[in-house]
Amino acid sequence: MFPAAFDYLQAHSADEALAALAQHGGDARVLAGGQSLIPAMRFRLAQPAILLDINPIAELAYMREGDGFLEIGACERDAALEVSPIIASRYHLIADASKLVADPVVRQSGTVVGSLCHNDPAGDWPTVALASRAQLTIRNSKGSRTVAADDFFVDSFSTAVADGEMAFSVRFPTPSGRTSGSYQKIERKVGDFATASAAVQLTLADDGTIRDAGIAIGAVGPKATRVAAAEALLNGQKPTRDLIRAAAEEAKKIADPSPDQRGSAEYKREMAGVLVARGLVASLGRLGVKGEA
Ligand SMILES: Cc1cc2nc3c(=O)[nH]c(=O)nc-3n(C[C@H](O)[C@H](O)[C@H](O)COP(=O)(O)OP(=O)(O)OC[C@H]3O[C@@H](n4cnc5c(N)ncnc54)[C@H](O)[C@@H]3O)c2cc1C
Repeated sequence: MFPAAFDYLQAHSADEALAALAQHGGDARVLAGGQSLIPAMRFRLAQPAILLDINPIAELAYMREGDGFLEIGACERDAALEVSPIIASRYHLIADASKLVADPVVRQSGTVVGSLCHNDPAGDWPTVALASRAQLTIRNSKGSRTVAADDFFVDSFSTAVADGEMAFSVRFPTPSGRTSGSYQKIERKVGDFATASAAVQLTLADDGTIRDAGIAIGAVGPKATRVAAAEALLNGQKPTRDLIRAAAEEAKKIADPSPDQRGSAEYKREMAGVLVARGLVASLGRLGVKGEA
């Protein structure tokens, strides 16, 4: 199908983009990698009057570490994360996910920030953002605000970005030396969206107890969800097999999947627990701690 008629605008700077959004408000949709928006337009699921292409804004294609964060700009492609030595060395959860989002061709165009703004319930990056306590910078022509991932994902395909605004970057806290993580995803074949997924990030204290656990599950509900009850169980405790099992049970309790061609609701709920357990074991393994699911 062909998209409905629209006007096409290109922004060459952040100021130009913000001026266009101030002028057109809810009539304009930001075009980043176009990997989700263009198909949605072709199926007439999205019919923006104005398409605002931010791809020419070179200043938004960056990834930099500093002030305790890894910051990724709105025009940085998924493919850049996959080959980043900084991510490979310290950001294990992001490194895992960067190889599993869609397929290599899609990752050449798709952006992390675009994926977060799209907020597909089966998307990979929202789950990672929740577990790693990411923050998003949102701007309009009048100013800027920072929104925690917990508050960013409102509902399926809906976020805290309001009309007249756009997301400029996502910031992931820099993990300490005793932090590791793991992204677990079941997919029917390479390039498919998740049947179920889990993102885990753990920081250990000097005595070997878990100081900070971040756990989120994806594709098993209307949006990616933090498993706060599992985090609370783990925090302050030495990791044990029973604790890992209990954390997995908490994930199963809050999973609210719908049956579809990828599996039944029961299967997906079960997998949410399995993937959380696998993510915990893998994260602990990377920290030199043996665990069994
Ligand atoms: C074949 C295929 C397989 C895929 N498989 C997966 C998968 O396994 N896992 C997965 O997570 N994703 C998958 N995707 C989706 C892909 O990762 C998309 O790239 C991503 O979801 C959207 O990123 P984008 O940069 O292409 O955004 P776009 O398609 O350009 O935009 C998506 C939405 O976000 C909005 N938006 C984009 N950037 C901003 C911004 N800076 N500020 C405000 N709003 C913004 C747009 O207006 C639009 O509504 C797949 C896509 C395809 C085509």
